[in-house]
Amino acid sequence: MDRTALLEMVQTLGDEFRRRGMRTHVAPLRIYWLALRHGLVHDEQHGLHLTLSEETVVEWFKLLRLPPYQRAYVVRPTGSRCPTCPPKEGRAGEVASERTFPDGRKMVCLDCRSAWLEMEPSSRLGRGSDAPVPRR
Ligand SMILES: [Zn+2]
Repeated sequence: MDRTALLEMVQTLGDEFRRRGMRTHVAPLRIYWLALRHGLVHDEQHGLHLTLSEETVVEWFKLLRLPPYQRAYVVRPTGSRCPTCPPKEGRAGEVASERTFPDGRKMVCLDCRSAWLEMEPSSRLGRGSDAPVPRR
């Protein structure tokens, strides 16, 4: 994608990480932003070897359901079995959580690699300071 568009996405993702209190993700993303901004990332995939790339940014947009990727992964109930694989001998295919983040996780079927999200209500601690404060 175009560098300007990627910079905008990196900015949006950084704001979202901050809002969700995902501090360990903010610093490397900030470095990536600076490298992109100053033309220090030259390869085709905009890779900087912090294990951040255009693909990583897009994947986070999908995980955090940020537009225009908000529907990239289907959200399924917690503990779902693979929607594609039939249960084998009465047991569901094996699924694993590939990545977790505040409010949810990405689940992957180990047989067919299909992926979906399972969301969980966030704990108040994981929320950014802009979350509404409940009144009593
Ligand atoms: Zn499957």
